[in-house]
Amino acid sequence: MTVRSGAPPRLSVVIPVYNEAPTLNELLSRTIAVLADLTPDYEVVVVDDGSEDATPDLLAKASTHNPRIRNVRLTRNFGQNAALNCGLFEATGDFVVTMDGDLQNPPEEIPKLLAAFAADVDLVSGLRTQRYEQVWRYWGSRAVHWLARLLVGRQLQDYGGQFKAYRREVIEATRQAWSPGKPFFALAVWLGFRVREVPVRHEKRRSGKTRYSLWALTRLNLEIMTSFSPAPLLAAWIAPVLCLAAGCAASVTAWWRGSALLWLGAAMAYGLGLVSLAVAWLASYIARLYRIAAGGAPGWVEMPARVTPPRFVSTGRLAREPATDDEHVAPTHS
Ligand code: UDP
Ligand code: MG
Repeated sequence: MTVRSGAPPRLSVVIPVYNEAPTLNELLSRTIAVLADLTPDYEVVVVDDGSEDATPDLLAKASTHNPRIRNVRLTRNFGQNAALNCGLFEATGDFVVTMDGDLQNPPEEIPKLLAAFAADVDLVSGLRTQRYEQVWRYWGSRAVHWLARLLVGRQLQDYGGQFKAYRREVIEATRQAWSPGKPFFALAVWLGFRVREVPVRHEKRRSGKTRYSLWALTRLNLEIMTSFSPAPLLAAWIAPVLCLAAGCAASVTAWWRGSALLWLGAAMAYGLGLVSLAVAWLASYIARLYRIAAGGAPGWVEMPARVTPPRFVSTGRLAREPATDDEHVAPTHS
């Protein structure tokens, strides 16, 4: 990396892998070629998420051969998000790029992500302009995306995918607010960091198949629903309001008509109203605890200093595609 001013920043690339032996060597050699072209100070943190194929052996060999490849091995398969978070916590770079390990995110697109950093950009998100996945998966991820937009409250075009680049400050602040299961990228966006979306190539999976089943996607949806907003909890207030209103209406009508049956109905509505009131009251306390936990201590995040980040400039040893202009900067919280 050629840097215009100051000390060269350190660059980390984090890659979670699970049974990716067939393409692992190509992934590493292409990634390293790109990074070496950009900077002398880089590391590749590969998190082996409990692979059962030749991935651990290949990684051990690769990291012995090139100490810039850091090999983190998890005891079992914890899932892509856990492996990715582990890598993010391990990475030491001033700028950290995350990407998939199945070559669907071409490493040659990394410079495009890095070039998008500016004084008012804290994190850069790869926007998949063209996607290769089954129809059910496409619609499943549209649903996740819709939910994320609703609950995170920011109009990003693409919440999915893991081809992203973070500034160190973003990682540190997001880590404070993180708890197991929370999607790191969406959390950073929810905290208010400024995102720029940049179109990147997305390629077909070359070997094996996606690890995301319908069940895994459903779990991810549930995770998102409970990660960003206590609104679903506070919806518990709807029941007592409705029950007590129904109780009032039923008692007035019962008094007017002198109907014993309606008095019984009113009593039942009041009873249900009181029970659901107690539940809603409890939910409010839980929502309060949730808010304390969700923002992390102290509950707010300071805007990183508005310094112009160093530009990463290729030495030109590798051919690069021209950057596209149709970038999208997401608005901050509405
Ligand atoms: N992955 C992982 N642990 C898992 C599943 C996947 O580390 O339990 C890795 C996988 O090796 C790949 C990345 O996460 O590098 C994305 O996985 P996948 O291709 O299955 O997801 P998709 O591209 O379908 O979203
Ligand atoms: Mg994939």
